[in-house]
Amino acid sequence: MVFRFLGTLSQKLLYGVGVTMKPQVVFVLGGPGAGKGTQCSRIVENYNYTHLSAGDLLRAERAREGSEFGLLIDSYIKEGKIVPVEITINLLRKAMEETIQTDEKKFRFLVDGFPRNEDNLQGWTTVMDGKADVKFVLFFDCSNEVCILRCLERGKSSGRTDDNRESLEKRIQTYLQSTRPIIDQYEKQGKVRTVDASRSLDEVFADVKAILDKEG
Ligand code: UDP
Ligand code: MG
Repeated sequence: MVFRFLGTLSQKLLYGVGVTMKPQVVFVLGGPGAGKGTQCSRIVENYNYTHLSAGDLLRAERAREGSEFGLLIDSYIKEGKIVPVEITINLLRKAMEETIQTDEKKFRFLVDGFPRNEDNLQGWTTVMDGKADVKFVLFFDCSNEVCILRCLERGKSSGRTDDNRESLEKRIQTYLQSTRPIIDQYEKQGKVRTVDASRSLDEVFADVKAILDKEG
């Protein structure tokens, strides 16, 4: 008990004097099925990044026994709507904290599928401003038609409740109405790195590599 307390205390002290690095974040955005998750896995294999998918964290929270948010998350996901940020930001913050506590060298994060709307962005700013640096936005640009076809294909085996035509129509609408304006905001700040994501996995990854090698 005492040792555990001392352990936590020393971590806090280390953080206090700045030995622990501030999280460095790349937001990964793009339509449903644009290839965010697939490309993030490739990045993790080749670079020192930790992949945090907001959608995966929400699905895990939905499945967690005793979660008070399970039903809410379930209905938002099926409807292609965006879950209130209070839930998502806590999951992201916790995941980042746990990663850094386990290994202080793991302070680079790919935050995949977030921020998706104004509410998400505000929540991030409120909770994380000054506590993490957003380096840039990696934007997987893909036509809606290709996105829909990929998700329908994925739906054959993904078991996801939202990889069907009905949910997809709604997800695309949400993406166009709510997420694109967020990407546009970052674009105005010169923070967006765009990749043509309608090509093959290897072609897309070649561009991703070029971006990461340049940005460090
Ligand atoms: N979602 C959300 N907030 C987030 C990320 C995801 O509410 O920050 C929900 C939303 O309903 C979305 C669904 O989770 O449609 C699936 O997101 P995911 O990123 O897994 O889908 P992808 O874009 O990768 O196909
Ligand atoms: Mg995904």
